[in-house]
Amino acid sequence: MQYISTRGQIQEISFKEAVMMGLADDGGLLLPASIPSLSAGDIAALSKMTYPELALRIISLFAEGIPADDLKDLVDRSYSTFSHKEVTPVVHQDGIYILELFHGPTLAFKDVALQFLGNLFEYLLKERGEKMNILGATSGDTGSAAIYGVRGKENINIFILHPHQKVSPIQELQMTTVTDPNVFNLAIRGTFDDGQRIVKEVFGDLDFKSEFSLGAVNSINWARVLAQVVYYFYAFGRVQRDTGCKEAYFSVPTGNFGDIFAGFIAKRMGLPIRRLILATNENDILSRFVGKGDYSIADVVETPAPSMDIQLASNFERYLYYLMDQDTAKVRKAMADFSSTGGLSFDANLQQRVAQDFLSGSATRSETIDTIRDFYQKTGYILDPHTAIGVKVGKEQTGGECPLICLATAHPAKFGDAVQEAINTSPTMPDSLAGIEKRPSRCEIIDAETDAVRNFVEQHSC
Ligand SMILES: *Cc1c(COP(=O)(O)O)cnc(C)c1O
Repeated sequence: MQYISTRGQIQEISFKEAVMMGLADDGGLLLPASIPSLSAGDIAALSKMTYPELALRIISLFAEGIPADDLKDLVDRSYSTFSHKEVTPVVHQDGIYILELFHGPTLAFKDVALQFLGNLFEYLLKERGEKMNILGATSGDTGSAAIYGVRGKENINIFILHPHQKVSPIQELQMTTVTDPNVFNLAIRGTFDDGQRIVKEVFGDLDFKSEFSLGAVNSINWARVLAQVVYYFYAFGRVQRDTGCKEAYFSVPTGNFGDIFAGFIAKRMGLPIRRLILATNENDILSRFVGKGDYSIADVVETPAPSMDIQLASNFERYLYYLMDQDTAKVRKAMADFSSTGGLSFDANLQQRVAQDFLSGSATRSETIDTIRDFYQKTGYILDPHTAIGVKVGKEQTGGECPLICLATAHPAKFGDAVQEAINTSPTMPDSLAGIEKRPSRCEIIDAETDAVRNFVEQHSC
């Protein structure tokens, strides 16, 4: 299985090269040159597998060049850190299925991908005799999942910038209490936007980037998408076993289009997903795209679901590639138009094609809070605000034709304030957070200046 760029201006590369490249060298995103398809019989057989068995089966279809035993070891280690024996269990509540993706070390679905990516990076770096210094900026969730993905790994150091005293106390502690020697938390005296700007500037210095082998763990790495394809198969198998259904809906709270794009890949592989339901908060560029063919940037609004407070969906270009019949010249033109005008619009014909894969909707702040409250009153089950958005939109868009599976992307304890507002009680802290404020922590507070960050990386690089 070779990999291509959505912009068509690189040679085909191997899986290993695609993982190390991250963003394609032509500025596009990497995708497999073809998507393997599975028969109904294959899919039925998958439903009997444990999560790690299934992950190995799916990932190996895309990961040529890694010996089966090595891949098995990588997968097994990646999912042994999850606290639930099923890794991503499916629970039935109020007539819908909730796919709990938050049993990893940082209690959000990003662990499913980043636990795997961290192990994969370590493996590939060792094979190549190379090192990597990961640099990133976070407003909360991704930073801690990335840190937990690479803590204690050989030949990798990680530097994560967060805005000093501007992330939630739990999120800050989840990062700063990781005291492994290869982990560096930098609290910058500035905002999240300062952090992003600094990271961009440091990466833009190509000499520095190559001298210190800078790497990124953002959601555009193909291996992250790939690891997320697995749980669509897993959940469908569990629900089919329960109900005998032939199809299912998946509702996905969406920001960067990464998680839901993994569902699109699963659908193209043959998983009988009736429609993927794209759920957004008030930052609704993606639901406007699905509903009206309007993909145009607006200002970012703060919501109770901060991990979806995004306007530029970094994985969207991957979907465009398929929507434009894999015509890379068309993708290049669309992305150039988008970057000059800040918007794209799609004609009725294309909109109709989008509608064959997706339904969509969005939830306001008060609808999100109300959904948490209503669901709790009916079932006693506490949804986190991101998950609540998926539940609200999913229920609105479907009518019981086939089961609805809602992706639960975070543990409610991570977003205790929104939950408190909705139901007037706090969710129980899971064991991994208990006593976190008493653990030793490590963090450097530095000025929001590119040079300060560059110097720090230089002095602490591996
Ligand atoms: C990152 C995140 C999302 C959005 O996922 P995308 O892949 O960016 O669409 C949703 N919920 C939570 C809790 C997240 O951390």
